Amino acid sequence: MPQLAKRMGRAKPSAIMVVAEKAKQLKAEGRDIISFSIGVPNFLPGEHVYAAAREALAKDSGQYGSNRGSDALLDAFLKHIEQVGLTGYTRANCATGIGAKHVLYNLCEALLDEGDGFAFATPYWTSYVDIGEILDADIQLLPCPAEQDYKLSPAQLDAALAKKPKLFLFNNPSNPTGMVYTRDEISALADVLVKYPDTWVITDDIYNRMVFDGIGYHNFVHARPELRDRVVFMDSLSKTYGMPGWRAGFMVGPEVVAKAVTTMNSNHITNIPEIVTAAAVAALSGPQDIPIAKCTEFQAKRDQVMAALNAIPGVVCPTPQGAFYAFPDISVAFGKSHDGKRIANDVDFCNALLDAKGVACVPGSAFGEPRGLRISYTCPTPQLAPGLQRIQEFFAELK
Ligand code: PLP
Repeated sequence: MPQLAKRMGRAKPSAIMVVAEKAKQLKAEGRDIISFSIGVPNFLPGEHVYAAAREALAKDSGQYGSNRGSDALLDAFLKHIEQVGLTGYTRANCATGIGAKHVLYNLCEALLDEGDGFAFATPYWTSYVDIGEILDADIQLLPCPAEQDYKLSPAQLDAALAKKPKLFLFNNPSNPTGMVYTRDEISALADVLVKYPDTWVITDDIYNRMVFDGIGYHNFVHARPELRDRVVFMDSLSKTYGMPGWRAGFMVGPEVVAKAVTTMNSNHITNIPEIVTAAAVAALSGPQDIPIAKCTEFQAKRDQVMAALNAIPGVVCPTPQGAFYAFPDISVAFGKSHDGKRIANDVDFCNALLDAKGVACVPGSAFGEPRGLRISYTCPTPQLAPGLQRIQEFFAELK
């Protein structure tokens, strides 16, 4: 039998989905499960989005579309990013894809050759490692533990870039930690970036509309405009508009990069479907009351999660200021037992918590930080307090 390509030996299915699948199975068996596992926003877009999709369906041209994205979609995206201070870009700076994950995959393929240095902080969003491994990049992890609030310091970045990676990938707000960099922190990192002109920079900032406590969203090109010729900003409809399954993602950056992503599109997806395009335009340009209300709701849920976690002795959780994740350090539980089951690590912890209390979380090792646990707190509000209470009980029962 012929063999699969070597790169498939490096490709792994998403670790997050493994937990979600187990939780789903237990639920199907009739268990009372509260899921804090997958990073879905758990709300739907406004009626205007569906109306635009229906209208597009009624007038469907049935034709292939633009590899880059339709002019109407690119224009709507450009207007949208102006609201976060990303101005002065044109359609030629943009490209679209089937979700930000697809855009990121294209970007990495366009920017990285085999063996090229690919640097990013841990904890990281799982796909960064998976994509880097498929492409056989030289992954350079920059550890950012809870003690430094899961944030990259300028000195760390300096040391990493001195090794001349081809690509530095940054994520703000962060999945899985919910950390958000302040204006001053972004500015200090941007000062380091300008020293290393041979490194491309991707800012995966798809949670940029979900920032709490008034700290605002900041980007390297706000701080140092001269970085525009090598910083690529990524965005998505998935989280902001409650549209993960619609699959629309975006990038804006140097023209040469946008053109490369467009070329990649021409060789696999061809275009985002017309109906999704219409829905995306409506989401980006229509009323923004749902995303704004959801951001307020997530901030209140963040407060509830933090109050519960701070009440557990030995658990340390830097306060998230964006997205919808909290990432407590739960290593205080390691070496203890629950109901006779020994907890040696984060995976044991998650399995025992799911089995004993029916609460699904994702082990931190999926994100490169095995002392952590990701809590995604977008569940229906009535489930949040009981879910948190079960986590508290679980800790209290450890021996
Ligand atoms: N980047 C980060 C940091 C994410 O958390 C996710 C989804 O969880 C993505 C990118 C991918 O988003 P999309 O649904 O647009 O592919």
